[in-house]
Amino acid sequence: MLGQEKDTVAFLRAYKSSLTDIQTYVSQLYAKYSTDGVLSLNDMYLKTRYSDMEKEINNIVKSLGNKEKDYFKSELTKTYEKSYISTGTILTEGIPKLAINFNKIPTGFVNTALTYPWSGDSYSNRIWKNKEALISNLKQTLTRGFINGSSISNMTKDLKGVLDGSATACRKLIRTEAMHCIGASHNDTYKAAGVKRVKFITAEDDRVCKICNGIANSSKNPFLIEDAPMIPIHANSRSISIPYFED
Ligand SMILES: [Zn+2]
Repeated sequence: MLGQEKDTVAFLRAYKSSLTDIQTYVSQLYAKYSTDGVLSLNDMYLKTRYSDMEKEINNIVKSLGNKEKDYFKSELTKTYEKSYISTGTILTEGIPKLAINFNKIPTGFVNTALTYPWSGDSYSNRIWKNKEALISNLKQTLTRGFINGSSISNMTKDLKGVLDGSATACRKLIRTEAMHCIGASHNDTYKAAGVKRVKFITAEDDRVCKICNGIANSSKNPFLIEDAPMIPIHANSRSISIPYFED
């Protein structure tokens, strides 16, 4: 397993504890207000029960979102720095006259790579959009459960399904954002090393998509470094840019 995947698996425990918090709260609602194991929507609409529940869900998800932002920031910084230094080492070995200390990452590089809205949105906005979707899915699941007279055990199971789906989205997002940081670090080291052009290359198998194939076969490839396509081209893309030397 890649380092980043391992870190993400560890981070995803935060989803498990948010799920536990939500399940505990809902169990308490059932314990207090259900009749014969059934908690109806009418029961929940009494007094401020429903709006209290909404507040509780919002708080739990918001705190999860904050943890996720912190995790992304530290993980993406680590990914960028590691990739910058290792790519710099390869370049220095390949171009002996290159007198650049790649172990010292210029101020601002990491932040620029992290905050660049390469996919049309920043990662922190995407995290927050995913959290809004999570809140809305949780409320839908709870409301539907109240309407259908779900038992607490079915409700618990359905809530787990919602959190699992959200955790999968988080895993996919960090993977794609990490790919972007690696791509950005490559371009930054290439530029620092004076590389003028980069060649866009695909995995060259039958899984290569039309978009990547189109870019690879473009007459502009190898691209001027300032026109280089932003990596990754899309989620789960395996295409990369490598330095291109004309001689
Ligand atoms: Zn592709």
